[in-house]
Amino acid sequence: MLLATPLRFARGMLPANWHQLSSFFSRSTANTAWRGGIKLVGHKQLSNQLPIRTLPLADQVVAVPLQHGRSLAEPCVRIGQRVLKGEVIGHGGTAIVWAHASTSGTVVAIDACHPADGDQPLPAVHIAADGQERWAPPRFPPHPLTVPALAEFALQMGLVGLGGAGFPTGIKLAGTAHPLDMLLINGAECEPFLTCDDRLMQERAADIVAAAALLAKVYGITQVRIGIEPNKPQAMTALQQALVSTDRRIEVHALPLRYPAGGQPLLVKSLTGRTLAPGRLPAEVGVLVLNVATVYALGRALLHGEPLVSRIVTLSGAVTSPGNIEVPIGLPISTLLAAAQPHGTGDIQVGGPMMGRVLANSAAVVSKTTSGLLARSESLFPPRAATRPCIRCNRCVDVCPMALRPLQLLSAYEQENRALLQQEKLTACIECGACSQVCPSSLPLRDSFRHAKRTIWLGVRA
Ligand code: SF4
Ligand code: SF4
Repeated sequence: MLLATPLRFARGMLPANWHQLSSFFSRSTANTAWRGGIKLVGHKQLSNQLPIRTLPLADQVVAVPLQHGRSLAEPCVRIGQRVLKGEVIGHGGTAIVWAHASTSGTVVAIDACHPADGDQPLPAVHIAADGQERWAPPRFPPHPLTVPALAEFALQMGLVGLGGAGFPTGIKLAGTAHPLDMLLINGAECEPFLTCDDRLMQERAADIVAAAALLAKVYGITQVRIGIEPNKPQAMTALQQALVSTDRRIEVHALPLRYPAGGQPLLVKSLTGRTLAPGRLPAEVGVLVLNVATVYALGRALLHGEPLVSRIVTLSGAVTSPGNIEVPIGLPISTLLAAAQPHGTGDIQVGGPMMGRVLANSAAVVSKTTSGLLARSESLFPPRAATRPCIRCNRCVDVCPMALRPLQLLSAYEQENRALLQQEKLTACIECGACSQVCPSSLPLRDSFRHAKRTIWLGVRA
């Protein structure tokens, strides 16, 4: 098992290649190490070589969700109404994430849509694109910008966490009673195949740095740390070069090249040495953690007056035309697949192979958390062997980055024993899937824990 220790690079001192990075690792002595995790084949080169591209939108109908988690916006447009890109189409009161037209065109329905990475259909506004991409006037935040005003503005500009969970950014930004001294930016992108954050950092580093500097100023934070796995040297270089233009203390740190380095408790540990106890918020250890794409989107909102209406999606796996495409929220997945030209025989994976899911509905649309579409093939996604009884090899324990005992957790799940699940710290599981990946008996460890959290733990029967 590789146990690499993260390293802080001072501005202008970025090592040029992996060999230099490795030697830096061995010299680092900071108490930032965490145990467990696994080495995965990255498959990043399949999609990280080409610039982010776009698609023509004429004749498309996009379906923009009005709901994010428990936040449900009220539609404020009617069928037949013409809308501009970025115009508000759904709004609400406190803690509601507003929705915006992701292209210019005509509202043709207010109905449901199926987000590619969601379980349930969601209410949505359907817009027939006119292909002209005409923007609504920009909307800027109030001055002076306080933390409460920033949080409210983030909700009204439709911002949610783009790293996967989709939690409303405005609620996260609303602050706590705890003083913050660091902003941590998650650029790990430790899932295989996904390269949307990598390309974003390579191509739009200056925007990311400008947004980070502004956020640090609003919070009075003195240190900003951007964590990146060292398999993204071009992104690191681009960020280092962008740092020249800021007087804020912003640093680029190399994370361990070990899945799941981007898991929140592990990122906090790697970048600060602080331990985030299960169930605790990062603010309780003095840090604000944001995904790098979320920081970029915040920057577009704060500095350019643009709401969140698009995201970058990685197309990879068994496809003829891999890469990264910036698409409007609500674009049909079928349009993206037509651009990617899958030639695999298997399913389409939404998100990474470790944390993502198989596309369940061919009519699904891109949501704010759709990071990638991967065409599965037997060579890239070998089928799992049939489940067998546990052989008590302990590999699942060795790789668990949260120091859990997956076998005991599985037993508690099978017994539906809530007290035992609590004793085995179910809520500390970050659902990374490392245990399932190494289990020689192919036991459904992670899927069981995920199901346990949503059913037994919450007292709900699925
Ligand atoms: S899925 Fe949960 S139990 Fe399994 S390795 Fe990850 S954190 Fe540990
Ligand atoms: S890795 Fe699988 S077989 Fe080995 S102890 Fe864990 S559950 Fe049992």
